[in-house]
Order: sequence, then structure tokens, then C-alpha cells
Amino acid sequence: MRVKLVWVWLLLGLLPLAGCDRPAVPPAGGRPLVVTTLFPLYDFTRTIVGDRMKVQLLLPPGVEPHHFEPRPEDLLTIQRASLFVYTLPAMEPWAARLLQGLDLRHLRVVEAAAGVRLREIGREEGGDDEDAPAGPHRYDPHVWLDFANAQQMVEQILAGVVAVDPAHAAEYRDRAAALKARLVTLDRQFREGLSSCRSRVVLQGGHNAFGYLARRYGLTYLAAEGVTADTEPTPRQMVALVQQVRARKAQAVFSEELVSPRLAETLAAETGAQVLRLNGAHNLTKEQFERGVTFFDLMEQNLQNLKQGLGCR
Ligand SMILES: [Zn+2]
Repeated sequence: MRVKLVWVWLLLGLLPLAGCDRPAVPPAGGRPLVVTTLFPLYDFTRTIVGDRMKVQLLLPPGVEPHHFEPRPEDLLTIQRASLFVYTLPAMEPWAARLLQGLDLRHLRVVEAAAGVRLREIGREEGGDDEDAPAGPHRYDPHVWLDFANAQQMVEQILAGVVAVDPAHAAEYRDRAAALKARLVTLDRQFREGLSSCRSRVVLQGGHNAFGYLARRYGLTYLAAEGVTADTEPTPRQMVALVQQVRARKAQAVFSEELVSPRLAETLAAETGAQVLRLNGAHNLTKEQFERGVTFFDLMEQNLQNLKQGLGCR
């Protein structure tokens, strides 16, 4: 059950939380607790900390994150944590609001995407996103899908982890360095794998999540929906998309994770293109979670599907 944040505030106001008597490192089976919002943050954090901390993914498996509102028990979990890792306010507007109301004396907060090069969304491609921050600039929140940004996020997470447990800093730095090296390799695999393709146009029958990836590898990216997965295309936009698929002789339409592939299937049926999956890695399904799927597993599968759908050598 989801509860509006205002009720959560009221609830928290009534609870005896977070005083001076709280230990700096609350016990979680003896280990500090790290709470992360999205799956990439969870996966990077658990790689860096190894067994020294308990890492918890706040999003329940299978939940689409753009409309996530924390439940009362989520707030209590965050209050117990030593470290809270989120992406940035454009991705988790609820987190920015929530942090304003928390006692932060014993909770370190990492805004993992702080300092990354954000991609501005043009009116022509973004649609109308009610969740977008106010102001003249609206930014694409899917920063982790640019693997150079992902390396910077690893650095931000590392700094938070080291601040919580400086005694094991060398160990954390070694693991973070290995993780960044894997991201460098992944970036090279994408650059090489997508260098020679029949088509450079990625048509997505889903929300606008891959703008960073497309920018990095020189692909043209057209998505049926805006950046927050809540704007269904109008019939007129659907007709325009079908025309795009035909005009560009696209062989594939890409579907996304955690939502119905209906839109991609409709586009594919109209145009004879095949449906392939592009996974934005916001979150995992329960089955993937239990199988221990990693960020790299998802991205390597994405590369295979892109190469197939775009006809890359
Ligand atoms: Zn998204």
C-alpha cells in the first residue's frame, strides 16, 4: 500500500526517532546498513562494500521507479541506515523532499549523480512530464546509462562508504577501482559493437530512458513516451511513430523492462519489425533478483539486442 508523503510526515512526527542516543553505526546484524533506491546504485554499492555492510534495495522487485512513493516502513528503514544512496532529485523527487525532513546527524547521504554531465530534454522529445523539476531546464534522469557517468557514480558511492567506515578504506577503493575498470571495458564493448551497423536509429516502444546511451555512441533515439514512463502516446503520435519505423526501414522495435511490451508489439505488428528488449536497469524482477542478475548482465544483453536489431557487424 502506498501512502502519500504527507501522512508519512505525520507518522514520523509521532515517533521517537533519531536522537543523540543513537549509535553512529546502527547494528544490522552487526554491520552498517546502506539503503539504495535504484538497482544500479544497489549493484555498485554491494560490489564496493563486499560483506562489510548490509545493502538494501528500497524499491521492491518489479516496481517501476518513476512513480514510487516511499511507504512508512521505508522511512523507518532509512532512519536505521548509516548511508542512503539515491540518484538525483530529477530521478527521485520524493527522496529530495524526504531528506529535508529527516534527522541527518547519523545518516550520510550520497547523491550519486552529483556532478555528472546531465542531458537536457528538449520539448520536442520529452513530452509533458509532470514529475520533471520546475524551472527552465528539465534533465533526463537516466544518468547511469552513460557508462562514464556510471564511473563517476561509483566514485560518489565510494566516498560515502569510506566516510561510514574509514578503517577499511583501502579495501573499498580497490573494489571501486575494479568496478570502474569493468565499466571502462563495457563502454569499449558498446563503442566497438555499435561502430558498424546497418541502422543507427533506435526506436523504442516505451519511455525515453536511453538518451544518454544514444548520445554516447552516436545513435539516433526515438521513444514513444516521455522520460517518466507516464505519457501514453496519442493516436496521432502512434501514426507518426509507425511512419518513422517504415521510413527508416527499422528492423526492430525495442521494448522496456517492468512494463507491458504492448506498445512495442503494436508498433512491430504495424511495421513487420521484430521486438527486442532494451533493459534500462531501473529495477529487477523478483526472478532476476533471486538469480543475482548484475548491472553488467543487463547491459551485455542490451548490447547483444542492439547489435541484432540494428544489424551491426
Ligand atoms: Zn526511466
